[in-house]
Amino acid sequence: MHLQLADADLAFRQEVRDFLDEHLTDDLRAAGANRTGTFCDLAPTAKWHATLHRKGWVAPDWPTEHGGTGWTTTQRHIFASECAAAGAPGTHSFGIRMCGPVIIRFGTQEQQAHYLPKILSGEHRWCQGYSEPGSGSDLASLQTRAVSDGDDYIVNGTKIWTSLAHQATHIFCLVRTDPEAKPQRGITFLLIDRNTPGLTMKPIINIAGDHEFNQVFFDEVRVPKSQRIGAENEGWTVAKYLLEFERGGNYAAGLWARLNWVRDLASETAVQEAGFGRKLAEVEIEISAVEMQEQRAISALALGESPGTAASMIKLQGSVLIQRLDELAIEALGPLARQDDPRAAVAMGRYLYDRSVTIFGGTSEIQRNIMAKTALGL
Ligand SMILES: Cc1cc2nc3c(=O)[nH]c(=O)nc-3n(C[C@H](O)[C@H](O)[C@H](O)COP(=O)(O)OP(=O)(O)OC[C@H]3O[C@@H](n4cnc5c(N)ncnc54)[C@H](O)[C@@H]3O)c2cc1C
Repeated sequence: MHLQLADADLAFRQEVRDFLDEHLTDDLRAAGANRTGTFCDLAPTAKWHATLHRKGWVAPDWPTEHGGTGWTTTQRHIFASECAAAGAPGTHSFGIRMCGPVIIRFGTQEQQAHYLPKILSGEHRWCQGYSEPGSGSDLASLQTRAVSDGDDYIVNGTKIWTSLAHQATHIFCLVRTDPEAKPQRGITFLLIDRNTPGLTMKPIINIAGDHEFNQVFFDEVRVPKSQRIGAENEGWTVAKYLLEFERGGNYAAGLWARLNWVRDLASETAVQEAGFGRKLAEVEIEISAVEMQEQRAISALALGESPGTAASMIKLQGSVLIQRLDELAIEALGPLARQDDPRAAVAMGRYLYDRSVTIFGGTSEIQRNIMAKTALGL
């Protein structure tokens, strides 16, 4: 999809391009270009986060009163697209994209005043403690237990697949506060400092050989009740709101950048396979469809609504297209894919890592279940 931009938006796009030209240093561009997983290494991520924060551009989707940019939907789209096209690293996204919006929506004024500036500055880096061994898709069956003890909860249990927990300063967690209630009714949302005594973790190495996620253990971890978001036993509402941000939103810009990467690879290797151009064209059409869905979701957010079922559609189709583009990259490389070629290292790393994109944030089957129920009424 190629938007017809008004003059003001063209001027904004130029402003963003000039900013990226000036501030995306070679090391940051290299980190973005060689990224194989969802996240860049901590150092370039922190550097880019700080750069955007200084400019006031680190949280475009937040309301202005909490540090957002006040951009229109089109401007936010332009910014995301230009960052992706230029190969910019990401920011500390669990705070910016998930925990921040939740604190803005459900947090008290004290919580907002304490946490939001630190998320914006990058002083606090968050990770997500939802999944447990045996509770992934069926998240509401989670067993990590929080027992009331005066002004605190005592937390015991374990979380798994916790991305970037080893780099995080804080973890937001779903815990069970009422084991007698129906599964969704007895859950509470807590913010926990990673340095709290009794909280430990061990690394899990993924199929691409990288340490991105972890198992986190809670052994008598004392958490002040002031760190609870929303009411006790009403964490499921908070959890679902957050998942809509995790699922919706941000696929198209990255997909366009990846399509261009595959095109460049194909022209460098002069891929001969009949029909390769047609495969790229088919993917291009599908990316356009995802982009239109995202525009709708972003517009809904701008009106104060949540993305709803669109988030599941975007997640499902966006993740499938990432995998499709990885396959096309391997096809474009041909025999080079098996050789000691730096392009092959990136392509194979992405191919392996991206087996996970149809799993995290809710598997494809779960997204289809949500759409069947909420959009089709089945
Ligand atoms: C790279 C990566 C990063 C992650 N990061 C985090 C993180 O930071 N924090 C966090 O909390 N979690 C994280 N996760 C965990 C992720 O959310 C879960 O893996 C996901 O929700 C699936 O749960 P599961 O692995 O337990 O699989 P299961 O739920 O056991 O599913 C196994 C299979 O059964 C299918 N299935 C299950 N239920 C149904 C159903 N009702 N209908 C149809 N099919 C079904 C699934 O689609 C899947 O194919 C991450 C996962 C990955 C791969």
